[in-house]
Amino acid sequence: MREIRADRTYSDDAEVTDYLNTLGYRLVAASADSRQEFTFFLILDPQVNAFALPGGFVGVNSGLILTAQSESELAGVLSHEVAHVTQRHMARMLAQQKQAQVISLAALAVAILAARSNSQISQAAIAGSQASFIQSSLNYTRDHEREADRVGFQVLERAGFDVQAMAAFFERMQRSTRYYETNAPAYLRTHPVTYERIADMQNRAQNLPYRQVADSLDFQLMRAKIKATQDSPQEALAFFEESLGERKYVSEAATRYGLVSALLRVKSYARAGKELQTLRTAVPGNAAVDALTARYYRATGDTAAALQTYRDGLKNHPGYRALVYDYAELLLATRQAGEALKLVESRLQYSASDYRLYELQAKAYAALDKRLPQHRALAEAYYRVGNVKGAIEQLLLAQKSGDGDFYQQSSVDARLRELRTLEKETQRETKK
Ligand SMILES: [Zn+2]
Repeated sequence: MREIRADRTYSDDAEVTDYLNTLGYRLVAASADSRQEFTFFLILDPQVNAFALPGGFVGVNSGLILTAQSESELAGVLSHEVAHVTQRHMARMLAQQKQAQVISLAALAVAILAARSNSQISQAAIAGSQASFIQSSLNYTRDHEREADRVGFQVLERAGFDVQAMAAFFERMQRSTRYYETNAPAYLRTHPVTYERIADMQNRAQNLPYRQVADSLDFQLMRAKIKATQDSPQEALAFFEESLGERKYVSEAATRYGLVSALLRVKSYARAGKELQTLRTAVPGNAAVDALTARYYRATGDTAAALQTYRDGLKNHPGYRALVYDYAELLLATRQAGEALKLVESRLQYSASDYRLYELQAKAYAALDKRLPQHRALAEAYYRVGNVKGAIEQLLLAQKSGDGDFYQQSSVDARLRELRTLEKETQRETKK
């Protein structure tokens, strides 16, 4: 994950990420091996692609989310990737290779990233590593593809999605690539879709009763969010204005949400406010709309209304990360570090592995001039993104800070011992 986070295309957008994990975990829960942990994450890349890394990390390109014409289509591609993981295809492939013992997970992650197109870090990272060897042997076999299709199909069905969507999606991709042979979408290059695969999917779907599945509002909202942020402000505005004006949409609310996002980008606040009112009446109590509303108030300088919107939104959706982060940031910006700290620490009780909460906690302590807990919090943030060395440095700074009581100081000492042991073990592993 450290390699991925360093990539220019990685996005930590809390709303889209949470949506992808909700959708992904709905599929995982429907799979036979639901004990495996998964992390779904967004890659800002217009190419239609999704890919699985060892350890259950599944990357989803923004291009895939925008190209999917229904939530079932997106779920179809994800269930195929989930199946690669639960069927241990990568592990089986590595086991067949003699070099398997010396391949580190990091090298493997680099190789897979390099296999995607447009990857910045990977081409450089790959040169000096064993990754170039791995990359050459990373393509799934036809048997793996067939199995991922079969298992993915079952997962899709059990999770309650439209099973026709998988074949429909692949067929559309196939058709679109006929015209650009040399520039096939990345997904097709790593997952060659053959007529045989499409026919298999259609046959499986034929034996099941037709079921109409409505897309979730969140699916439509997150598509609109990606569209509104990835295009230029003027293009985004033109797109949503036209869609709304000519009623060319699946979801009017999502289209209006996209329009408001675009209006905020071109600083057309008066109109944004009007459209927002219509949107809030149409879908009251939606967390993503609350977050957008607060953003509008912040942009227009109405801090009091923004703070109130966060408080109201969090009452209904206490775990909605975008609201938590944005509210904490605004509290910090308005010199209410004590309140920010209370909010962050209450959330840490539920999500103790969230590095962004620790970052906010560190900022709040810094504002309150409490240096030991500030460095301690930053250490926890670094530790959670896999940066043990950085975490140890922060703990050393905490020791030297000269504040904190005896209890806090001993707790820093104990944590430092723990991480140093961990660091030694890691070094020994690497040397092996
Ligand atoms: Zn595949």
